[in-house]
Amino acid sequence: MMLVAGVDVGGTRIKSMLSDLDGSVVLSHTASTPPRPGDSIVEVIAETVATLVQRARADGITAPLAAVGAVVPGLVDEVNGMAAWSANLGWRDLPLRDRLQERFDVPVAIGHDVRAGLLAEFRLGAAQGSPDALFVPLGTGIASALLAGGQVVAGSEWTGEIGHVVVEPDGPPCGCGRLGCLEAVASAAALGRAWNALGRDGDAETLSRAVEDGDHEAIRLWEGAIDALVRVMAPVCAAAGTRLVLVGGGLALAGATLLDPLRDRLVRALGHDRITVTQAALGDRAGALGATLLAMEAIA
Ligand SMILES: [Zn+2]
Repeated sequence: MMLVAGVDVGGTRIKSMLSDLDGSVVLSHTASTPPRPGDSIVEVIAETVATLVQRARADGITAPLAAVGAVVPGLVDEVNGMAAWSANLGWRDLPLRDRLQERFDVPVAIGHDVRAGLLAEFRLGAAQGSPDALFVPLGTGIASALLAGGQVVAGSEWTGEIGHVVVEPDGPPCGCGRLGCLEAVASAAALGRAWNALGRDGDAETLSRAVEDGDHEAIRLWEGAIDALVRVMAPVCAAAGTRLVLVGGGLALAGATLLDPLRDRLVRALGHDRITVTQAALGDRAGALGATLLAMEAIA
């Protein structure tokens, strides 16, 4: 047996796991992300892998480590192995693959958290058998990853940044400094803020329950968000021939309250009904599982 390590660096938590080459997870671990680590994320990832291997040895697992995969948020250029930019985590133009490779004597792969998550959903989760899929996690922000013809699309470092497409030119301010970006209108965080601005308590989950109860203010907000999502998703689906939209993140927990109207409006926008909208299956493990898959590809 041989092992691969997968590390998913998130804004608040680092999820890591060891799996065998069949994809069975033998050990997993979650730790807090240090505040604004910047380039020191290289040491953090190296220590995370070392800790995993130590724990495996303590459990009597002696199989050697064959490769390491690490995925990060923000702008990532997989071709050149660059962590190009993360505003929250504080790095820019970090040659992450080369810097990690100096610390390991096994192959290292790096990737983008959402694209790696989609790879995991395709191999192990809700996109199995669906080679043309769009993955959109709706959480604090909004990102996307596209699978076309069974390949995860990764072009320049800006790939997938649909969260900053402007959908309401006079809309709410976005963290990027502009007004009315998709993620300032339709992310779970934005919906929670808009709900509170109406003088209502709770967050996006409270809002979704109010929608189910027929609350008119809630429904207006909810439908506005779905319209904004469809305005951005439909052209992507049309261009790429997407047959499956996988929704992830906190907002996906609203289930049919979100997914059914989203699908109805996508069908109307696209002019055909050969599209499925469903909830992602792997939850917050998708990124780390995807990182182990990238590690396996690095061995071959
Ligand atoms: Zn923005």
